[in-house]
Amino acid sequence: MGACDRFDSLMWLSYLKGRLSADATAEMELHSASCNECRDQLDFFRKIIGIIELHSTAPPESWTKEAGEKFRLAGSNCDLSRVFGEMVFDSDLHDEKPIRSRTMEARHLIFDSPKVQVDLVMESSGRQLKSIIGQLLAKPGEHAEPFEESVLTITVASCTYTAVANRFGEFLFKIDAEMTGEPLELRYTFEEETCVILIPV
Ligand SMILES: [Zn+2]
Repeated sequence: MGACDRFDSLMWLSYLKGRLSADATAEMELHSASCNECRDQLDFFRKIIGIIELHSTAPPESWTKEAGEKFRLAGSNCDLSRVFGEMVFDSDLHDEKPIRSRTMEARHLIFDSPKVQVDLVMESSGRQLKSIIGQLLAKPGEHAEPFEESVLTITVASCTYTAVANRFGEFLFKIDAEMTGEPLELRYTFEEETCVILIPV
């Protein structure tokens, strides 16, 4: 079932955000005009951009506080150098219409952690996790450090994948692994602190 994979997720997002060169933009437009699969992908990412921008407002302060308290509790019997991010939004748990294309489905998640907020869109096809696109975001009212070169890793079914954020904090994991039901473990280091996020699947 070879879906056309000429452009990856980050390319589509960059295209929709108007960040590509005129040449690359023209190439994507020209190709999408004649490729049904890419037109489908373009539709899919247009919806994803919509939800990312819709939800990119700050979580309520009470959530942040709650996350901090949970961490202090957890800290008593686990390694203090690990900081757990708190999930503050999951499209699977909200009455939000799932985003689907013919081949892909997307789930949108937002995590809050002491230093940054993390926005994730998991693309899957059945139980097969295809990719995760995401963005590290500055916390409301805080100075946005450059995210460039922030290294992220994710462990799926005991395989670890690595991604590096660009200067906008965006990152992409190309995965293509079956989700076994075990939570996925996302780690990132920012300002020398490592944060761990567990993603239930
Ligand atoms: Zn195509």
